[in-house]
Amino acid sequence: MSTSILWLRRDLRVHDHPGLVAALTDSDLVLPVFVLDSAVYQGRWASADRTHSLLTALSELRSDFESIGGRLVLRQGDPERVLVQLAEQVGALTVHATSDAAPFALERDARVGEALEQAGVSFERHPGTYCADISKILTQQQKPYAVFSPFWRNWAEQPRRVVLPAPKAMLSPEIEDGAIPSVEELGLTRLLTDPLAAGERAARSQMKAWLSGGVDSYVEDHDQIAKPSSMLSHHLHIGSLSALELEARAATVPGPGSAAFRRQLAWRDFYAHVMLFSPRNVREPFQKRFANLKWLEDQAGWQAWCEGQTGFPLVDAGMRELAATGFMDNRVRMVVASFLTKDLHIDYRQGEQWFMRLLLDGDTTQNNGNWQWVASLGVDPQPYFKRIFNPVLQQKKFDSDGTYVRRWVPELSAVPDRFLAEPWLMSTEEQQASDCLIGSDYPAPILDHKAERLRAVERYRSVADADS
Ligand SMILES: Cc1cc2nc3c(=O)[nH]c(=O)nc-3n(C[C@H](O)[C@H](O)[C@H](O)COP(=O)(O)OP(=O)(O)OC[C@H]3O[C@@H](n4cnc5c(N)ncnc54)[C@H](O)[C@@H]3O)c2cc1C
Repeated sequence: MSTSILWLRRDLRVHDHPGLVAALTDSDLVLPVFVLDSAVYQGRWASADRTHSLLTALSELRSDFESIGGRLVLRQGDPERVLVQLAEQVGALTVHATSDAAPFALERDARVGEALEQAGVSFERHPGTYCADISKILTQQQKPYAVFSPFWRNWAEQPRRVVLPAPKAMLSPEIEDGAIPSVEELGLTRLLTDPLAAGERAARSQMKAWLSGGVDSYVEDHDQIAKPSSMLSHHLHIGSLSALELEARAATVPGPGSAAFRRQLAWRDFYAHVMLFSPRNVREPFQKRFANLKWLEDQAGWQAWCEGQTGFPLVDAGMRELAATGFMDNRVRMVVASFLTKDLHIDYRQGEQWFMRLLLDGDTTQNNGNWQWVASLGVDPQPYFKRIFNPVLQQKKFDSDGTYVRRWVPELSAVPDRFLAEPWLMSTEEQQASDCLIGSDYPAPILDHKAERLRAVERYRSVADADS
């Protein structure tokens, strides 16, 4: 009987899983294994809540494999050692895995591939993380893209592989399963009070609900903060849902909503493409001229931002939503990121790290690409003075009736609409009538956006000019 190993990472599903199908095709017995590695769950981008989601998805996947005759084993330790040992134990000749674009994952794959090769085991990587093959989308000069629109036009024309059904049966070798620990057993403390659901079942039912409803009005509602978007990013991150299957199913929904939604999926492939070809972005700005940009140390400002106590209602609502659910609407992410980097002048890498700690969709390639985009030092550039978000105007435009802000900043619930974006403009009587005394019930704004905007432009200009 031939045996192969399926090394699971960010592909925790049975539907549309090319690595799983390849393993089942090439061997009689398939052993799916997840290796819990402290270098990941205690590493630079550690998040107890994302680890909890992952463990929840793994438990569900274990029972899904069992229901078709297979099993899922869990091991802790260094994947090089664990996989070589397991391959020897079950007599596997091949280890299958799904490709990733993050530098950490690629370096790990190189090490594991080498260790397996020395042990006489082949290591095969398969697609399954992105809609298209992000390594093959190149400009006419055969270079990677740094601007989204041309990437997207090329991306839309790339061939797609066939979406694969979930297998109906599998056999796995007899071997100790290994208990799936809780995050507490791993020594981690969860921070979110109301996290989004994890696992393939939740992912698929969310996808079906979205495609049979919300997506129709995606064009009109996309920027309206209180109107939910698909909320599928955390499932895509962990691979409980295949991006390709989502794209293919969306393509069967007629109308502009579905086309706009698929374009958003292209952003996901774009940022992964950028990181694949420019891995140094994990530590440095893509635009080298901004490597010397001066950032401020502002402990009080940093704390106010993290805690949602800046006195700017939209910023505070977003940061509180993040702390409770591990999610934040895309527009609000842009507003809070702009506030950190261009009002507080705090290094984007600090914000990037905070997001990675709390976001359930926290993803090295996506988070880094978006933070660099907002901080005007990444790809898809716009002049820095054009990409500075005014938190008051953004709130007036995209949460005009205050539904979102009132949900997350209850101190402001009785503040009249006309003051909701600038509650500090209320007179003392108006504050009393709204049960919201500025400075005691809700903070006074910690800064003057107009002044800080000019300061940001100066900071950026000094570096950009020095370079030209
Ligand atoms: C500062 C900042 C940090 C971010 N960090 C992350 C992150 O760590 N992980 C992450 O998945 N997204 C990140 N995003 C992108 C975006 O905010 C989320 O993907 C989106 O809000 C998820 O909600 P949704 O699934 O309802 O999106 P929808 O609006 O329903 O979009 C569908 C899908 O398209 C993709 N998508 C949409 N917008 C973007 C975008 N701007 N960049 C890349 N892909 C996009 C996502 O996969 C998303 O699930 C970040 C954005 C900003 C501004």
